[in-house]
Amino acid sequence: MILILTPNACASDPDYKQLMKHLARLPGISTRVHAEDGAAQTLTEVYLIGDTKALSLEDMQGLPCVDRVVRISEEYRVLGRHKNDSRPTHFDYNGVCFGQDTLNIFAGLCAVDTPEHVELMMKALREHDLNCTRMGAYKPRTSPYSFQGHGKTCLPYVFDLAGKYGIKVIAMEVTHESHVDEIRESLDQAGNPTGVMLQIGTRNTQNFELLKIVGRQQDFPVLIKRGFGITLDESLNAAEYLASEGNSKVVFGLRGMKTTGADPHRNFVDFAHVPVVKRLTRMPVCIDPSHSVGTRTCSPEGILDVMQATAQGVIAGANMILVDFHPAPSKALVDGPQALKINELPHFLEDISIARKAYEERAALIKKYSDK
Ligand code: PEP
Ligand code: MN
Repeated sequence: MILILTPNACASDPDYKQLMKHLARLPGISTRVHAEDGAAQTLTEVYLIGDTKALSLEDMQGLPCVDRVVRISEEYRVLGRHKNDSRPTHFDYNGVCFGQDTLNIFAGLCAVDTPEHVELMMKALREHDLNCTRMGAYKPRTSPYSFQGHGKTCLPYVFDLAGKYGIKVIAMEVTHESHVDEIRESLDQAGNPTGVMLQIGTRNTQNFELLKIVGRQQDFPVLIKRGFGITLDESLNAAEYLASEGNSKVVFGLRGMKTTGADPHRNFVDFAHVPVVKRLTRMPVCIDPSHSVGTRTCSPEGILDVMQATAQGVIAGANMILVDFHPAPSKALVDGPQALKINELPHFLEDISIARKAYEERAALIKKYSDK
């Protein structure tokens, strides 16, 4: 059960103290408090852990400081959608809204290679009014002999250039606690010209110690990708690890499933799960068509498979697109063969607009027919 307290409820208020005293007396129930500082107000949620079946919603609703009460099922306690659950399905970060109704495009380099390529990429994003990107500094690679990313040495120029071109959020994978500290330090040293969404890659979806560390910090939101060969439920529980540690600014990423059945694509495109994740949880859903498809092949009419997969995800209501672009794919140090070229960006964006409009029309159609 979750008690959502009145906005700006504060631990020093007599009402708040009375509430906590009452909860402490409930037999077999322990509490966990999550306070989220927003721009305008602080929202506090108190999680009641234990056997809460005997507690009545009405009694709980009548306690001091309590605004709303939500009874939760066992699944995805914090991030799940529960019965009569009107908790938000969006969050703000660095001036950008991420929600189940919005669509943010993160086109960028799979891996940072040179300052020139980073600048060309960011300049193109600004020219197309995009304010988010992807830039990998820490790359988990299959072979120990492959390029592992420039690590912290590239962060100063990546962050400076992001500030120069008005980029507000960079998705950046981390594979170790030290990476989070390096990103925070570099951002501070640069004067925080941009923001970072920490990315948990598919190889680390069930790295529970990393999830706990990333979940305990509240400076950065998190994009967690679906795990390689595990069930959707297992991946959603991995996302719940982040939230159970305190960070519920989480986006869930679909990136295809590893199976030989995916051939000739790199992974089996799983974007039919976009509405499933939106139904089960309050997380915005990201699609990664680049790592799903993994090639630049195209259909007979000339549409790239990466664009086809993107359209499938967007028309199903995806909220974020993580996609590899490169100014010179043949020179990319990681995943050049799947990268779109910068001169393909306008085409890609127009194609997305068509799919998004179709999604909006489909959602409006539901309203039209449900009114009858
Ligand atoms: C990536 O986005 O750079 C990446 C490595 O993706 P994934 O974790 O989905 O393989
Ligand atoms: Mn890649």
